[in-house]
Amino acid sequence: MKKITGDQISIQSAAHNAKGVSPMTKPEIASRIAELRALIAKANHDYYDLHQPTVGDRDYDLWEAELLRLEEENPEFKEAASPVRQVAGGVAEGFKKVTHNPPMQSLDKTHAKSELAAFDTFVRTQLSQPAINSQQPTTGFTYVIEPKVDGVSLALKYSNGKLVQAATRGNGTIGDDITANARTIASIPKTLPADAPRELEVRGEAYMTREGFIALNERQAALGLEEFANPRNACAGSLKQLDAKVTAERPLDVVIYNAGGVGCDGFASHSEMIAAFAKWGFPVAPWSRRAKTLEEMFAAIDELQEKRHTFRFEIDGAVIKIDEREFYAPLGATAHGPRWARAYKYAPERAETVVEAITVQVGRTGILTPVAELKPTELAGSTIARATLHNADQIARQDIRIGDHVWLVKAGDVIPAIDSVIVEKRTGNEVPFVMPAKCPVCGGAVRREEGEVAVRCVNPACGAQLRRRLEHFASRNALDVKALGGKVADALVEKGLVTDVLDLFALREEEVVNLDLGDTEVEPNTFFDLLQPVRKFGKNGLNMLKAVDAARELPLHRWLFAMGIPNVGVTVAKDIAAEHERFSDLADSAVLKHVLENDAKKGKEREILPIKVEAAKAVLGFFASDYGRAFAERMKALRINPAAEKKVAAKTTGALAGMGCVLTGSLSRPRSEYAALIEQAGGIVQSAVTSKTRYLIAGANVGATKTEKARALGTEVIDEARLLELLK
Ligand code: AMP
Ligand code: ZN
Repeated sequence: MKKITGDQISIQSAAHNAKGVSPMTKPEIASRIAELRALIAKANHDYYDLHQPTVGDRDYDLWEAELLRLEEENPEFKEAASPVRQVAGGVAEGFKKVTHNPPMQSLDKTHAKSELAAFDTFVRTQLSQPAINSQQPTTGFTYVIEPKVDGVSLALKYSNGKLVQAATRGNGTIGDDITANARTIASIPKTLPADAPRELEVRGEAYMTREGFIALNERQAALGLEEFANPRNACAGSLKQLDAKVTAERPLDVVIYNAGGVGCDGFASHSEMIAAFAKWGFPVAPWSRRAKTLEEMFAAIDELQEKRHTFRFEIDGAVIKIDEREFYAPLGATAHGPRWARAYKYAPERAETVVEAITVQVGRTGILTPVAELKPTELAGSTIARATLHNADQIARQDIRIGDHVWLVKAGDVIPAIDSVIVEKRTGNEVPFVMPAKCPVCGGAVRREEGEVAVRCVNPACGAQLRRRLEHFASRNALDVKALGGKVADALVEKGLVTDVLDLFALREEEVVNLDLGDTEVEPNTFFDLLQPVRKFGKNGLNMLKAVDAARELPLHRWLFAMGIPNVGVTVAKDIAAEHERFSDLADSAVLKHVLENDAKKGKEREILPIKVEAAKAVLGFFASDYGRAFAERMKALRINPAAEKKVAAKTTGALAGMGCVLTGSLSRPRSEYAALIEQAGGIVQSAVTSKTRYLIAGANVGATKTEKARALGTEVIDEARLLELLK
């Protein structure tokens, strides 16, 4: 199949523009229209149905604009079935269907302020309102400017004040019923306060937070699963899960910005309506401006663009709406979108660079990850020299070759990613990437498991994996062996002193002291290093051994995290450790087995347990594996049997001594910072509310269900300010 890239289109567009001097003939126009329709339809399918975009947003918008223009100029070719006259987004199988009344529309898009000026003129002509300037205030209409949230649109219906239905936009008229999934989104109110209409429909956008997206992709990668291209795709994929339990694990949130078909008629203005939504418990956009004039509108758009990276969600532009709702009916709508609103899309921040090489990294779990080595380039405030290419499938899909000129973007505003290849810059000397058939580090066999996109080195003694495991083992939240950095890990593995992380406990002093740390590349990091004529590990090596020895006594949760089991992060490790006495209890843990049994139960029978199913599965799976069994044996032989920190008695002083605390919602400081403060005050940070939780610290956007459930368990729900008071 021929791959579509945005840049092939740019060539075509350019060719047509060049011909623009002598206008296209009708057959040429007809064929260009057909071509654009096919391209857009394919892009829509890749994006909405497969959640695997194949073109950049900018290019997509350009096709759409070109098609709209050609269809407007040549009405004889207009067709109701044209993708620009329909709302994109297929209807997925496996979901009940919901009919939207009125249909959920898209928005007409603009890319230049001149187009907004034309919009302004249009509105004024329609409403017979003279153009105004800031000196001449008028009682006429007002614009509202809002962020254009780049997520997945959805509609929420309430009956008798209870959430009864959530649906995706689908094709605008018919969407998918995703009620069960939406119920797992904490910030969606499940019950409305008494002053809200009993029958209500609101519409808005679901999104995945930036941090959530990064964490999710790390997890997907660790499990050898496909990573998501951006937060929007991750969100779409998460909402379209047939199993709501999967959705529940995904960090989703919503912003409500539109009226639905019922319960919203009483408002004179959009701003009043949004204020009411907020009062009823719906998350609304944290930023909006009102503008009387075009200049004020432009100023707001510029301000929003400045702020675009400060939101929890990604935005791809501004939405300009008329505030007074009395004008909606007179202005009407097209089949595509309302005439009283426009989207203004910001050009994505992107930079051109060259793929100089594609290297392959081997991770802790053996996954081979291709990485693009780029000509260093400035993008959105940082210099970027590398970008992960995820896996061979992704490279093939984007057809990225070594030597290609590419557009670099930041996925989720943070992670460097290749958006598309600039095909017209190809010279023919570009080299396609081939995934190595052997591990590039140990030369061992590689394998691709059924159902995974990742290729793994399956050699358990692979140096690359071992090196990464060692680094993780020694990291701060694990066993905290500071003297064991990357270079030392390299040397220990290379010299064959360590073939498993537990070999650290069997190292002899002279081996370590005389360990050759290699070339002068090594940065001296202490004054002592400077005095060392040869790069021997020396005294730092002795320090390392001391730290290793001390690690024997570290609490169970630190060890559990150090072992690097997928799905077992710092907090999960703490939760699991808290339910056990010692390391030796884990392999055959009744508590973990109970978690799995409980998961199979239905409805009321299911208890709320402090340990996640995935985590329990992973830990039991680890100890059932050959490696896990050997690890446990070796721990026994080394007489290391870490004990859990005493549960409540851990700290008997401090304002929160022995109290379980759960942090939820969006907080103004990083969670880890609050966790540290709580622990300093003697509190115990938990990942989920249990009967032992004293406080639920609820940040912004926390749904009523979550807090109600907490209260039912005897947990007090407090906000950040109250927490800070308690900590004082
Ligand atoms: P597009 O998805 O590019 O066709 O743009 C139209 C979509 O933008 C709408 O269908 C909404 O889902 C979405 N959107 C995001 N933020 C807003 C907002 N503040 N007001 C209206 N629509 C919005
Ligand atoms: Zn290997």
